[in-house]
Amino acid sequence: MPRNWALWTRPRRFVVFLLAMEALSVAGFTVAFANAPMPDGSDWLEFAILALGATTHVQFTHRQEERRRNRTKTVLIDLTAVWVFPATLVLPATLAVLLVVLIRLQRWFIARRPTHNFVYSSIAHGLAAALANLSYTAMSPQDWNTLTATGSLREFGLVLVTAAVYEAVQIVYVGGILALGSPTPTVRTVLGSKADNLLEAITTGLGAVTAVLVVIMPPAVAIMAVVTVVFNRLAEIDQLQDAVVTDPKTGLLNMRGWTESADRALNRVRRAGSTLSVLMVDLDHFKWVNDTYGHPAGDDVLAAVASALSSVTRPADVVGRFGGEEFLLLLPDADTSAAELAAERIRTTIAGLRIPTTDKRGAQATISGRTASIGVAVFPRHADDLDGLLQAADTAVYEAKEAGRNRVSFAPVPT
Ligand code: GH3
Ligand code: MG
Ligand code: MG
Repeated sequence: MPRNWALWTRPRRFVVFLLAMEALSVAGFTVAFANAPMPDGSDWLEFAILALGATTHVQFTHRQEERRRNRTKTVLIDLTAVWVFPATLVLPATLAVLLVVLIRLQRWFIARRPTHNFVYSSIAHGLAAALANLSYTAMSPQDWNTLTATGSLREFGLVLVTAAVYEAVQIVYVGGILALGSPTPTVRTVLGSKADNLLEAITTGLGAVTAVLVVIMPPAVAIMAVVTVVFNRLAEIDQLQDAVVTDPKTGLLNMRGWTESADRALNRVRRAGSTLSVLMVDLDHFKWVNDTYGHPAGDDVLAAVASALSSVTRPADVVGRFGGEEFLLLLPDADTSAAELAAERIRTTIAGLRIPTTDKRGAQATISGRTASIGVAVFPRHADDLDGLLQAADTAVYEAKEAGRNRVSFAPVPT
């Protein structure tokens, strides 16, 4: 029943944006289809080749795509652009969109996401293809079979412009919805990580190569089918590498990732003859949260604190979860007074958090007034290696607890 759709429970601006984008899509599809020529025999042949390649790709990567989806928190790069992008270049808009439908139908069975999300991102894919096709044909491209050297340079330019349109539509569509749907949007969650964007660019680039092949040497498209299946696996390895250094509960670096980044930062600072500070943040009476509201609520608090820590620090700062309800921050170039300012800011930010969660019976609850004790150690004042700094920060946390919690303590200066 439309009245019961999960969609209506989302924030209003979210629903408005969504409906506006759907209206834009209808317009986009209408114009693209009205301008598309009737597909001829060779269009259908090229369509069949791309559809075969895409089906091979999708079918041989089902299992893996399922795993990838379960892990990804934000934007999921769809590697099928390797097939859709060439379709926008060499086929009429109708067939390019038909290819998207064919791929999305196959993907539907592994997506397991709320229907309106899946429909929405399918429309994003289709519209990106339709509008890319529309702008490409508007630039009156030449027949690739009879290109001169300079002619091919111009055509390559057209392909790049089309790729930009194709990407832009998806960024606006998917990024817009992520920005509006999330309570605390960050550049990373909205636009994806650097690695995601690189992957997306490579995928579209491979799509351009596929377009050339399907026109000039169609059987060679088989190579692309193999490449995409292997490429899909490589993309998974890349994600696994990320997972190895990430704490799944908070999305922060885990101890392994933190230590790696912190070591690099310490080496840089040492070479530059600069200073840095290590902050250890331990939530006060955290066991009480678990006992009172239950462990899921405790986890919500941890996630909220983690996101607060990320938002009050600078990009060069290294933020990680030490374990349990303890967090670690390394602030490059922060001397004693800078560290004190930062630690105070963190302390007051945590104390001011209001965290929506559920209580033991599953009813809505808000947790607020939670505090933290923060221990600070400064390089090279307190120690000259990471282990020593951690030890010193830990001692300082202990002192902050002893002194009554909800405060910042500095490590004692070694004599
Ligand atoms: P203090 O002010 O002295 O730091 O008191 P505390 O209760 O925070 O300290 P304590 O070390 O006694 O307890 C830490 C609690 O954190 C115990 C443990 O159950 C809880 N905890 C550790 N990891 C997690 C987690 O991942 N999720 C949840 N919900 N609780 C966790
Ligand atoms: Mg603790
Ligand atoms: Mg604690």
